Formats: sequence, C-alpha cells, structure tokens
Amino acid sequence: MSARRRTLLKVIVLGDSGAGKTSLMNQYVHKKFSQQYKATIGADFVTKELLIDDRLVTLQIWDTAGQERFQSLGVAFYRGADCCVLVYDVNVMRSFDTLDNWHEEFLKQANPSDPKAFPFILLGNKIDIDGGNSRVVSEKKAKDWCASKGNILYFETSAKEDYNVDLAFLSIAKTALANEHGQDIYFQSIPEDVTDNEQRGGCAC
Ligand code: GDP
Ligand code: MG
Repeated sequence: MSARRRTLLKVIVLGDSGAGKTSLMNQYVHKKFSQQYKATIGADFVTKELLIDDRLVTLQIWDTAGQERFQSLGVAFYRGADCCVLVYDVNVMRSFDTLDNWHEEFLKQANPSDPKAFPFILLGNKIDIDGGNSRVVSEKKAKDWCASKGNILYFETSAKEDYNVDLAFLSIAKTALANEHGQDIYFQSIPEDVTDNEQRGGCAC
C-alpha cells in the first residue's frame, strides 16, 4: 500500500470588504484578475500545492463570503488556522485603521495556544492605483504597525498587476509551516481486491 505524506496548512485572509482579499487569492491561485467588484458569495477556501524544502505542502486559503462587513465569520472559519493574513488597501485609511480590530478579532476567535507567537502577515494592497499618488498609508506607517504587533511580516502588493503576490504567499506558506500546527494527511491507495459487495457493505438492496 502506498502512502504519500503532505502537510495541510490552513491560512485565513481577513480585512475590510473591498481591500482585495479575493482578488489576491484569485491572482495567486488562478492567475486571474477582474476589475469588477463582486462580493464573494458562498466561497470557503481554495487550495494550492507547494514544494517547500522537499516538503509537499497544501495551502488551504480561506476567503470570507462577504460576511466580513459584519465581522461575523463563525468559529469554523477560524478553527485550526496556521497563519492569518491581514489585508488593507493603501489608498483607504479606514481599511488600515480597522487592522487592530481584525487582529484582535482573530486572536479572540481562533484562540491560539500562544497568541504572542501566532504568525500574522500584513499585505498593503492596490499599490498600482494612480501610480501611488492616491495612497494615504505610507510604508513606514504600515511597518510601524507591524513592529508594534511583534514583528509581523509586511508586503506591498497589487493583485491587479500581480506584484509581490507569489512572494507574499510563499512567505505565508513558510511562516505557517514554521508554526508547525499543520496536520499531516495520508492518502492511501484502496486495495483492489475488495469485492463489490464489501464496498457496498454487503447490502443487496
Ligand atoms: P475583498 O472584498 O477584500 O475580497 O475585495 P475584492 O478582491 O473583491 O476587490 C475589491 C475591488 O478592488 C474589485 O473591484 C477589484 O477588482 C479591486 N482590486 C483588488 N485588488 C486590486 C489591486 O491590486 N489593484 C486595483 N487597481 N484594484 C484592485
Ligand atoms: Mg471577497
């Protein structure tokens, strides 16, 4: 019987509605960007396979289904997270100001065993807009916030122009892996000599 080992890492993406969470995930996983705004409906997670230092890793990236507007994401959303990605829009001050709430909300709901050591990553998105002329949050301000929360890693991204997206998610995966809460999952091949009856549990009805 063959068994293949891989590590499953759960990453959750939080931040104000409109900051670009879904777009960043779409760009990373599907290499697609859409200018149209559609509130994410019904989506839960997307996955991406990665090889990190000879380890096969499945990143399970959880998106909100638009409920972030009400901060009501439910316990299942937070449960077992290995890394939390916070996203804000560098052109919208409010999306930066609410980071404290998202950070706090995550720690409250996910309730990790060591809150101070739990890995977060901050993404300052939409740096492409107006060639950077409309940005209202400076890189320094964002980095100061990261330092105040215990050295959170920071990346500036553009989901539209695919800028820093791969790099950011690779760091997210490495950070989550270092946290080592990942579950190992085993895919075992099914023995071929199982009869039809046995597979159906012997019921002939
Ligand atoms: P979410 O609510 O956080 O999931 O945000 P979305 O991913 O739905 O994005 C909100 C809007 O911003 C959409 O119209 C996107 O096309 C747009 N958007 C997202 N990321 C970028 C970006 O990096 N640059 C630009 N110019 N627009 C973006
Ligand atoms: Mg969305």
